[in-house]
Amino acid sequence: MITNVLVIGSGISGLTYAIKVAEKNPELGIVMISKNNLLESNTRYAQGGIAVVSNFKNDSFEKHISDTQIAGAGKCNEAVVRFVVEEGHDRVQELIEWGTHFDTNKNTLHLTKEGGHSEKRIIHNKDRTGLEIQQTLIKKIKTFTNITLLENHTLVDLITDHHTGSDYKRCYGAYVISNTQQEIIKISAQITILSTGGAGQLFSHTTNPKNATGDGLGAAYRAKVKIEGLPFVQFHPTALFPKIKDNTFLISEAASWRRCATYNKKRKAIHA
Ligand SMILES: Cc1cc2nc3c(=O)[nH]c(=O)nc-3n(C[C@H](O)[C@H](O)[C@H](O)COP(=O)(O)OP(=O)(O)OC[C@H]3O[C@@H](n4cnc5c(N)ncnc54)[C@H](O)[C@@H]3O)c2cc1C
Repeated sequence: MITNVLVIGSGISGLTYAIKVAEKNPELGIVMISKNNLLESNTRYAQGGIAVVSNFKNDSFEKHISDTQIAGAGKCNEAVVRFVVEEGHDRVQELIEWGTHFDTNKNTLHLTKEGGHSEKRIIHNKDRTGLEIQQTLIKKIKTFTNITLLENHTLVDLITDHHTGSDYKRCYGAYVISNTQQEIIKISAQITILSTGGAGQLFSHTTNPKNATGDGLGAAYRAKVKIEGLPFVQFHPTALFPKIKDNTFLISEAASWRRCATYNKKRKAIHA
């Protein structure tokens, strides 16, 4: 199979990238592969919402940047933090234009507060924000005739020339397994995008879905792609710890934050 652009992964990052490229370049052929069905991803399980500055009366980009640096113990890359915070507002507007529904209070977005934030700035769709976004993006991507969607296709390895010794390294596409046909397909592409999510399944208990095994990162590593920040693993401190493996699920931080606040109040009252 030959295409202009190969997108590996159908979470929020892969879907958004493919939609944008397809909109701007209707003449390009785009192939998107996904390990399971299009929906199964970390994105669909995201609950609490998106941290974004939208109430510019009380909040500001500078406050959000400062909160992020404090929460990240000063280790976050300032340029990346600034870029994400400043882009956030417009990207959320884009999601809304594409059909995503976020909860509102009269005519403004309903904002909640989560740990580490000095202002209310979490926009959400009840407690199923990721599912709402994922479903909207899937609906949108299916409207493009220049995007071919291959579900149940797993990346095996990137095709690169890193082992030839040349200084100029290129990626030519990827080898992919068709999970249903049990055959290897070669997809040649001018541009290959890896958006394969995280690696939560490396841990014995995780809130990540079964397909979050980090094999995208593995393929990048084997192809000598520069990888940064691997020691930084996000974990949910508030997951159910079940007796049966694979049944871990997130208890929203928002819920536990309230319970902690109530508990702390009671404790203070007892010790007063
Ligand atoms: C329970 C839970 C709650 C969360 N809550 C929040 C929240 O409230 N707010 C927030 O901002 N973030 C939250 N997150 C984090 C957020 O969901 C992720 O950061 C985000 O969804 C990552 O998007 P992504 O597109 O990078 O990856 P993903 O959504 O994980 O998508 C990865 C895609 O790659 C595919 N893939 C993986 N390997 C291969 C392979 N070898 N071949 C082919 N395809 C492959 C998968 O099938 C999937 O389609 C939460 C995460 C979880 C698990």
